[in-house]
Amino acid sequence: MAELEKDPAAELIHGKRDLAITRVWIEEGCISCGLCVITCPQVFAMTELGEVVAGADFNAHEEMIKEAAISCPANVIRYE
Ligand code: SF4
Repeated sequence: MAELEKDPAAELIHGKRDLAITRVWIEEGCISCGLCVITCPQVFAMTELGEVVAGADFNAHEEMIKEAAISCPANVIRYE
């Protein structure tokens, strides 16, 4: 029985292949709404602006990181 080929298009998320998240950051423009902290407090924190928690386990919270990025009203959360 022939092995099914993977559809490369199905693996694309945000224009990149869905690989493990190795880096999360917040670009300039955060409006300090706090939504990312509510969505994923294990990875995001607030001082005056949203920030990424040092040493956070990105892979354990991958879905919540993606949800926070999609939900961010300023669209400044990035990951790769
Ligand atoms: S959700 Fe976006 S705008 Fe709101 S605090 Fe987090 S990074 Fe800032």
